[in-house]
Amino acid sequence: MNRPLVKMDSLPITPKFVHKPKQQRLVVQTSGCKVAQISIKWRAKRDVVMLDVLTQQILRTDISGMPLEWIGYQEAVRLHYAGQVAYVSGQDILRVRGGYNAVTGRRTILTLNSIVSTYGNNHMLRDTYTPPLNNPTLFKRDAWLCMYCGDSFERRQLSRDHVRPLSLGGMDEWNNVVTACKRCNNQKAGRTPEVAGMQLLAIPFVPTHAEYIYLQGRRVLADQMEFLRAHFPRTSPLRERIAK
Ligand SMILES: [Zn+2]
Repeated sequence: MNRPLVKMDSLPITPKFVHKPKQQRLVVQTSGCKVAQISIKWRAKRDVVMLDVLTQQILRTDISGMPLEWIGYQEAVRLHYAGQVAYVSGQDILRVRGGYNAVTGRRTILTLNSIVSTYGNNHMLRDTYTPPLNNPTLFKRDAWLCMYCGDSFERRQLSRDHVRPLSLGGMDEWNNVVTACKRCNNQKAGRTPEVAGMQLLAIPFVPTHAEYIYLQGRRVLADQMEFLRAHFPRTSPLRERIAK
């Protein structure tokens, strides 16, 4: 049996419904207003593919191309209908069918792309932004590797290590934290790497806004990845990793 690969919490349909092979209409609602309808023919083998498309994140940028955030297809539809879209780029990921025009009788069809650029500029993000620190993005920054033993671990086996411990005045900030397996973290305890005799394999860094968006991404498409990579600093350790 095909199992959905993605969480369905954000979709206005129930998991039970997905496996019924019949035509249904999915009403796209944003802020309480019906903005479009999508006809979906649910077939067992296509369910997973269709769900992948519906949960695919779209990259929103400002008009200069500065990456801003990930949005869902519902928000992308709303931006198009609100006239806030300056231009789109990247591959087509979803076609949304709207209502029929009373005069022409033609149906509105909206194609959503993987990257959507909206009016307005956000210069502040370029120079002064410090992203919030959280474990999922920290672990992804360090490629799920322990920065002491160098081994790869599952997320639940990893922990946040303060290079200079909090007890010695170290801060809970991006440039003082690294990913560590629980064993190494326990071994290091409340000591600096030098005192503990444990070598740090990479120097921690503060992600830029573009890097942080990449780290937050789920199933980042190749064209989105390339777009984000172009906004990374030249010395970004993430550049090389994405290129592999
Ligand atoms: Zn380790």
